[in-house]
Amino acid sequence: MRALLQAAVLETRRVYMGAGILALDKRRRESEMGYLDLNLNITKVQKMNRDMVHTFAEEVLRPASLELDKLDPEDVIAKESIFWDVFRKGYKIGMHKILLPEIYGGGGFSPLEVHMLFEEISWGSIDFMIAFGVACFPAFIASMVPTEFLVDNIIIPYCEDEEAKMIGCWAITEPDHGSDTLAPFTEQFSDPEIAKTACRATLDGDEYVINGTKAAWVSCGTIATHACAYLTIEPEMGMAGGGICIIPLDLPGVSRGKPWNKLGQRALNQGEIYFDNVRIPKEYMIVDQESYEAILDVTLSTANASMGAFFTGVARACYEEALAYCKERVQGGKKLIEHQMVRYKLFHMFKLVEACRAFSRAVMEFNFNTNPPLTQYSIASKVFCTQAAFEVANEAVQLMGGFGLSKESTIEKLFRDARAGMIEDGSNDFLALVAGEAIVNE
Ligand SMILES: Cc1cc2nc3c(=O)[nH]c(=O)nc-3n(C[C@H](O)[C@H](O)[C@H](O)COP(=O)(O)OP(=O)(O)OC[C@H]3O[C@@H](n4cnc5c(N)ncnc54)[C@H](O)[C@@H]3O)c2cc1C
Repeated sequence: MRALLQAAVLETRRVYMGAGILALDKRRRESEMGYLDLNLNITKVQKMNRDMVHTFAEEVLRPASLELDKLDPEDVIAKESIFWDVFRKGYKIGMHKILLPEIYGGGGFSPLEVHMLFEEISWGSIDFMIAFGVACFPAFIASMVPTEFLVDNIIIPYCEDEEAKMIGCWAITEPDHGSDTLAPFTEQFSDPEIAKTACRATLDGDEYVINGTKAAWVSCGTIATHACAYLTIEPEMGMAGGGICIIPLDLPGVSRGKPWNKLGQRALNQGEIYFDNVRIPKEYMIVDQESYEAILDVTLSTANASMGAFFTGVARACYEEALAYCKERVQGGKKLIEHQMVRYKLFHMFKLVEACRAFSRAVMEFNFNTNPPLTQYSIASKVFCTQAAFEVANEAVQLMGGFGLSKESTIEKLFRDARAGMIEDGSNDFLALVAGEAIVNE
């Protein structure tokens, strides 16, 4: 897989540079890659993989996401859009299967390696990072309970896919259920009143029948081929009476909304999925109401720990934009970096980036190796890193003055991208309440 990664990155670089799409400033690229990694145990191979993914992120993901940012959501996913070219290239080098075990053809990376790769991809484009991340949801959850049926029909075909023919999504949020879908082991999660209006799966012989709507917030919602849907089987148990199933989205009774328009992460497709008496074989219900709450907890822990890594990358991207600008811009007869207050601000941003990396790596290494995970740590990582990324983005805009507000600058997009992070994968305020309940009940 690593040889394939290297070959594909080189090929992609050749194609893009040959097409004249990118004008690279080599000197700047070298300085950006010059950040020090405080982990002295990182191997040469790990560094090489990280550098290759950085090159892909810089030469392919970043410019494509800046271009797609300007488009209407429908045009982002239009047949001729560069989104598809980039997405396929990502699949070709295995970006869609970083979290999957090697025995099925997945990346087989250690938690530290996963963190390093996620940070680099997100440095280039949080939009594409989230898209690759949700694309693996059906196969990833199936790999936790790998029956022969799921291995043959979902996990291996997904791992072997090099052309983005199988795209997953995580369909959990509903029009009437946002935060309350992400509260395992809290008191409210077992309240039957709350689950009455939720999207339902009902057992009928050898099949489950699905009815309801998943919200416009589902990432890759209008382009996915398979949903990993978190829905309600037994409302009397409250939201805890849920189930997790894989739904092939070409089944009768499935329809989609229009691609959703939003503030940041505009290269990431979002949209509603409607289920009207959709029938799935019961083998596709991979988790039922008996273990739903526990597996939801593992999902939240994995997703939030990953968000910590993603937004370390976003924070670093914002810091580097500001640093590069302050080294060039002259005001009051000096470069901005020669002004004491500018150095003070850059140091604050630098400190936040390093804290994000150290904390989110530690959480990922702990929780990816711990069963059941301590989800309050993953939530702390997500909340800390997304808030830090927004703070760094905000300071970067301030340091870049009027230019930072201009559509000509990269930071203008990164600022909007960072803002979305404090809501996606659970609103930070609500997640803090969920983690707070875990902490006091320990
Ligand atoms: C970019 C992006 C990508 C996303 N991707 C996906 C995806 O792939 N799949 C998916 O299913 N969903 C996805 N989401 C949805 C996301 O997970 C939800 O937006 C999030 O969980 C919050 O739900 P909500 O928007 O309904 O807000 P609400 O739940 O309505 O919350 C609104 C506000 O009320 C507060 N609040 C809610 N309940 C309480 C309470 N009990 N006590 C105190 N305050 C409370 C919240 O903190 C928040 O500030 C995405 C969202 C974004 C922005």
